[in-house]
Amino acid sequence: MRRSVLLLNVTQRYSTLLNATQRYSTLLNATQRYSMIINATQRYSTLLNATQRYSTLLIATQRYSTLLNATQRYSTLLNATQHYSTSVSECALPARSVYTMATGSAEMPATTLAPVPDLDGRRWCRHCSTTLPLASFPSGRRRYICRKHVWERVTKLSKQLCMQDPHRSRLWLLWKRCWTDARTVFKQTRVGIVQGDIDALLRGRDGRDGRDGSLDDVLIMPADPTRVLCTENAVVVQTLNRPQLVRAWRAGGAERYALELAACG
Ligand SMILES: [Zn+2]
Repeated sequence: MRRSVLLLNVTQRYSTLLNATQRYSTLLNATQRYSMIINATQRYSTLLNATQRYSTLLIATQRYSTLLNATQRYSTLLNATQHYSTSVSECALPARSVYTMATGSAEMPATTLAPVPDLDGRRWCRHCSTTLPLASFPSGRRRYICRKHVWERVTKLSKQLCMQDPHRSRLWLLWKRCWTDARTVFKQTRVGIVQGDIDALLRGRDGRDGRDGSLDDVLIMPADPTRVLCTENAVVVQTLNRPQLVRAWRAGGAERYALELAACG
């Protein structure tokens, strides 16, 4: 009996120990999981810091970029100022006097500034707000507006207005044909005729200005194709005669062209 009691005690203690071991094991697992969570948290924190540093760097880069732009704008302005200053001090171009339209007399002379000279083959475009090579500007009268901006701000608008009037539209097409012929057929670099000259030529022909559609089938061609097309060197021909005239010029030069023109009457 005594032995049996002893065995029971031992068994109970063993059982208690086993429970304790299992609890210990559970605790150990929990500790390991906790440790993993701590590691993950630290890694997350490191990542967060890196993100903040990146963000700071990004802001600094943007500020630097803004500063760089400002510097470039300042530099452009400085160049323009120097450019202008050079023109005033060194070129000694005489200032022109102009008279205001309002008074129409010399009572209130106003002085215009001397023109800004081109520097190193470049000129200021007031719409681009920078200097461009001279080739970017239209030839003829000196303007501070580049070809692109002349087209956008002047030519396009006036052409739209012009195209609403059938007569002006017709004159424009006739002039355009003269210009294309001069460049591609007669190998000239320019034409010495404007739309007003074409209008005068058509009116002078038979007193009609073509508004009634009577001139829809005529074209302007040069009398002498070796010379630049101008009012004195222009003839009005029927549109259907143009292909023969061009063929004659290409095949036999000025002589064949003159014969063909005479045949057209
Ligand atoms: Zn421009």
